[in-house]
Amino acid sequence: MEQATIKYSCDLPWQHHQTADTLVVYCSAFDFRRYFDEFLDKGLALKAYDLIAVPGGAQIMTSMHFFPKIANFMLRWVEFLVKAHDLHRIVILGHEDCSWYKDFRFGPIHLDLRERQLNDMTEVAAMLRKSLNVQVDLFYARPKAEKMEFVTVS
Ligand SMILES: [Zn+2]
Repeated sequence: MEQATIKYSCDLPWQHHQTADTLVVYCSAFDFRRYFDEFLDKGLALKAYDLIAVPGGAQIMTSMHFFPKIANFMLRWVEFLVKAHDLHRIVILGHEDCSWYKDFRFGPIHLDLRERQLNDMTEVAAMLRKSLNVQVDLFYARPKAEKMEFVTVS
């Protein structure tokens, strides 16, 4: 192998034997990510978790998704991670004012954005609980009075 130029060397020592028990699925929106990470770290006290971050988060797995092949592919990823890493919990985060939902067309009728998101999240959660036999928890992030709060979705 050619001599590689080291661009950066992390301060954090590499740990060989790490385990996780949770998969997190959230929207990849840049402006919410730091709040998601703080919530997962401090709000849920997750030590280690696998992560799938895509535009719209869990929406891609809904039965209403216009691209079933992509939905199936995402489900394969989720199933793979749950089985390969022996995960027992999936945490799904949605957020207010999601660009993906604003841009995505749900047919000719305009549906309430928040209602649509929450329905999608609960649909995906029910499907994953049934197909993978895991605990699935849903949370929704919303800015309020210059803070970011997370509420449970059931
Ligand atoms: Zn989003």
